[in-house]
Amino acid sequence: MTRSAEDVQGLQGTTLHGTPVVPGVGYGRAIRPGVRPALRVDQPEVPEADRPDQLEKFRLAATTVAQRLRERAANASGAAAEVLSANAAMATDRAWLRSAEKSIKAGAEAGIGAATATDWFAGMLEKAGGLMAERVTDLRDIRDRVIAEIAGLPEPGIPMPDEPSILLADDLAPADTAGLDPTLILGLATSLGGPTSHTAIIARQLGIPCVVAVGELDDVPAGTAVLIDGTTGEIVVAPNEAAATERAQQSRADAARIAGWAGPGATLDGRPVDILANVQDGAGARAARATAAEGVGLFRTELCFLDRATEPTVAEQADIYAEVLDAFAAKKVVVRTLDAGSDKPLKFANHAAEANPALGVRGIRIAERDSGILDRQLDAIAAAAARSGAEPWVMAPMISTAAEAASFAAKVRERGLKPGVMIEVPAAALLADQVLAHVEFLSIGTNDLAQYTMAADRMSADLAALTDPWQPAVVKLVAMAATAGAAVGKPVGVCGEAAADPLLACVLVGLGITSLSCAAAAVAAVGAKLASVTFDDCVAAAAAVLATADPLAARAAAGEILNGS
Ligand code: PEP
Ligand code: MG
Repeated sequence: MTRSAEDVQGLQGTTLHGTPVVPGVGYGRAIRPGVRPALRVDQPEVPEADRPDQLEKFRLAATTVAQRLRERAANASGAAAEVLSANAAMATDRAWLRSAEKSIKAGAEAGIGAATATDWFAGMLEKAGGLMAERVTDLRDIRDRVIAEIAGLPEPGIPMPDEPSILLADDLAPADTAGLDPTLILGLATSLGGPTSHTAIIARQLGIPCVVAVGELDDVPAGTAVLIDGTTGEIVVAPNEAAATERAQQSRADAARIAGWAGPGATLDGRPVDILANVQDGAGARAARATAAEGVGLFRTELCFLDRATEPTVAEQADIYAEVLDAFAAKKVVVRTLDAGSDKPLKFANHAAEANPALGVRGIRIAERDSGILDRQLDAIAAAAARSGAEPWVMAPMISTAAEAASFAAKVRERGLKPGVMIEVPAAALLADQVLAHVEFLSIGTNDLAQYTMAADRMSADLAALTDPWQPAVVKLVAMAATAGAAVGKPVGVCGEAAADPLLACVLVGLGITSLSCAAAAVAAVGAKLASVTFDDCVAAAAAVLATADPLAARAAAGEILNGS
């Protein structure tokens, strides 16, 4: 049961938690969607003489609702416009209209006719399952709008607020979400829904901070001041006004700074750091090209072949690799040879069953058993490079020893390419100087480095605190590799998830890391953060992190220096 505005006193400063979906902070008064019309189902049969009138009412209401949705579609863009147009089409669907009209002609009141047709239609969609079943919410939304129109009630859904507000709801009909105006809705929280729901997709497109699946959200009445943090998933009820206003302003300033960052990567005082993108195919590379990424720091080639039962030919591989090289012509592109195994098994490369695949024959270890797959892939990379006129850097995953690095480097050099290796195994980080003697560069995979350093499966949600890339033990190994690179003037990058965390990225730079490669979506946030701090601050933050013993303390220590808090 929703509380009245007077009851909110007891919720003062309370923090509710949900699943964060769209980052950013919004602060304002809460509004809630209008109540859906209740339908009296026990109405007597309409006398024959009045039925044409009911029929007319229904037709007029359906037409009006469809027209309003079309008008809103015309004022929207992208996914929002598509959702609204699709819903307008639903309100004029001939089968649905005919079914409602049939009920009305048989004596049902206009609203009951709409409801009966909707139940019938929804049943069919549900039976069809999948995407069709997902349209049931849209259909019920149309029904409610038509019923309200017939009854002469205001259209259900989101009220037009007279000041910028925070929208709270159980869940939103797609038509409601699609019509949101980001200048009036500063944040959105729902008690239901998931990160891939319609609500989440459209909130993401509109850039409205959003949290879904929030417990106890029903207890927060309209009119209450609310702060929503789409990064942490927190909803603070009736927070301290001055602090909340400042947080929201800071968030808007951050968003503007990130949106305006166009590269190239450098600290505030001009120390250059390559900001690169992780990609998995040509399409991903072309999408990354639209960001300020200066190149590709990790091309995960194995992801191109997850569905293949047999090894792709050299020519086939060359075509795929050339797509990525062409997308970043004349830019740095680091191609990783197949990292098959564990969470990315390839049918043509891996053992069918290993008791412990993360510690098994994966990555470069496959070449020990059968060097043919690696040789053919390197031939394909060389062919793609020759065709594109590119000079890709080529690196091997899962290197554990200097000997593995030496043997890989020889094969790469034979083909006129530039060899490097990934540092993902603690042994390779500990002997980074010995490994580096054989190759031209290192790239640190912090995802696997954390997994192997902490002896914690990176796929396990239960062990997420252990595989946190802020674990000081992991940072210490990164520092060893960076120091080894600096000593001989060879580049050492990071291409694991650590590089996608703007604060941690600055710490990595302070350790001596020369390039950061992350998902294209994270490039601007990382670049903008780095551009806001000096290299000396990065060095100080790195030293502070190395003096801590747990990830929370590490984050706090870095935040104090780099966030000025
Ligand atoms: C890593 O382990 O950090 C890495 C970048 O490689 P992947 O995530 O593909 O294993
Ligand atoms: Mg890895």
